[in-house]
This record gives sequence, C-alpha cells and structure tokens, in this order.
Amino acid sequence: MDADHLSKRLAAVASYVPKSARIADIGSDHAYLPVYLAKRNQIAFAVAGEVVDGPFENAVSEIAAQGLTDKIDARLGDGITVLRPEDRIDTIVIAGMGGTLISDILERGWQHLSGQERLVLQPNVGEYHLRCWLADHQYVIMAEKILKDDGHIYEMMVAEKTTQPITLSERDARFGHYLLANVNAAFVEKWQHEYQRNERVLTAMGHATDVPLHKQAALTAEQQLIREVLSDASTTLN
Ligand code: SAM
Repeated sequence: MDADHLSKRLAAVASYVPKSARIADIGSDHAYLPVYLAKRNQIAFAVAGEVVDGPFENAVSEIAAQGLTDKIDARLGDGITVLRPEDRIDTIVIAGMGGTLISDILERGWQHLSGQERLVLQPNVGEYHLRCWLADHQYVIMAEKILKDDGHIYEMMVAEKTTQPITLSERDARFGHYLLANVNAAFVEKWQHEYQRNERVLTAMGHATDVPLHKQAALTAEQQLIREVLSDASTTLN
C-alpha cells in the first residue's frame, strides 16, 4: 500500500470523507490517507496526528515528498489533543486501531471537539464497545460498512453528534444497525467465526471449575443472538 494505492479498507474509509473537508487523521502512520485525499483535491486541509516518533517521521517525509506541506500538517501528540480551534476540523478519521483505544482517544481529547465534527471510525476490534460509547456520548451512527480485505474482515462507521438521547438495542450495538439491514458475505463470515470461537470458550468453561456463572450466561445469550441473526441472514442472502 502507498498513498496512490490505498488498501480496500482505507479506500472505503476515505470514501466517507466529504468533499472539501478539513480532516484530522488521528494515528495517521505514513499519512497515506490524507495524502491520497489531498492529491485528488478531495480535502481542503488535513492534520496528520501521530503519537509515536517513527510513524510521525514517516508522515512528515511522505507529506514533504508529495509536495503537500501547505495542505497537510503532521503533528506529534496524543490523539485529538493536537488539534487547535483555528484548524476548523470538520471530519475526524481514526482508523486501524481497537475500538477501546478509539473511544479513549475521543474521551481524552473531549475539550478539543466542537461537537460539529463527523467521525469516521474504523475499529479493528471492539466495535460493540465503540458503538455503546458513541450512543452514551450522543453520537448517532449514520452509516456502516463491513468488508473483507487481504484475508481480514473490517468494520467502519460514520457518526455525528445529536441533541437527542440515543437508545441502542443489544442487536444494533453488537452487529451494527446498517450492517444488519444490508447483510453481506463478510458479515456472515465474521459472525460464523465469532460463533465458533464462542463455542470453544463455552466448551472450555464446561470443563473448568469455578467459572463465573454470569459470564457463561452472557456468552450463551450472545450465541443465541448470533444464531438468530445468522438464520435471518441466510434467508436474506438466499
Ligand atoms: N490509520 C492508519 C490506517 O488505518 O492504516 C494507520 C493505523 S496504525 C495500525 C495505528 C497508528 O495509530 C499507529 O501509527 C500508532 O502509532 C497510532 N496511534 C496509536 N495511539 C495513538 C494516539 N493516542 N494518538 C495518535 N496516534 C496514535
């Protein structure tokens, strides 16, 4: 992958950035995403945020090599705390890390958000946690996608702040409202895999002593939910 050839995953993330946006790409690594968007005149301005020296240096070099220092500013620091009011950021991208880390980054940088920003998030794991965090902080999910890229299955979501309290059903939190409404092969593969993994855990629990009963019950309930969703999905896909 490079800035001219994004992975299928990162290209899908890029597709959720509105035209002429002012973006913050947090955890930018090589800054491939903002460079890709800037080269196509898709964005007006970008901050490429990185907390680790090596990836930050990669971002600085990539932006300079592409002649984009006037449009993309690489900044070293934790999450969205690198942003300033004068950046007038309207889109925050956080991709390629766990859902808990993404929500921690949003939580820690809370005072740097205006509440007007579109969030484009791509958690590698921990989607359930992230959806619950978004609902608790009055972010409504506007779009979701699940896809397979290079043998891995990835989810992504777009969220915007609302004034209304949000109630999220267990199904929507776990599977994603829009993913449930548009089931595809990647969705089915992911949940078949989760189901089999949970079965192995339940079997191990069955042989163990002192297993917390609430954990066993929670996993059994999740398995029931996955069975129902996969059964609905097979009706939809066939
Ligand atoms: N966003 C790119 C993508 O999706 O391909 C790169 C993902 S890379 C796996 C995750 C990057 O996030 C790493 O470069 C890491 O240093 C950076 N990162 C992790 N925690 C961070 C934080 N609190 N603030 C800024 N960057 C962070």
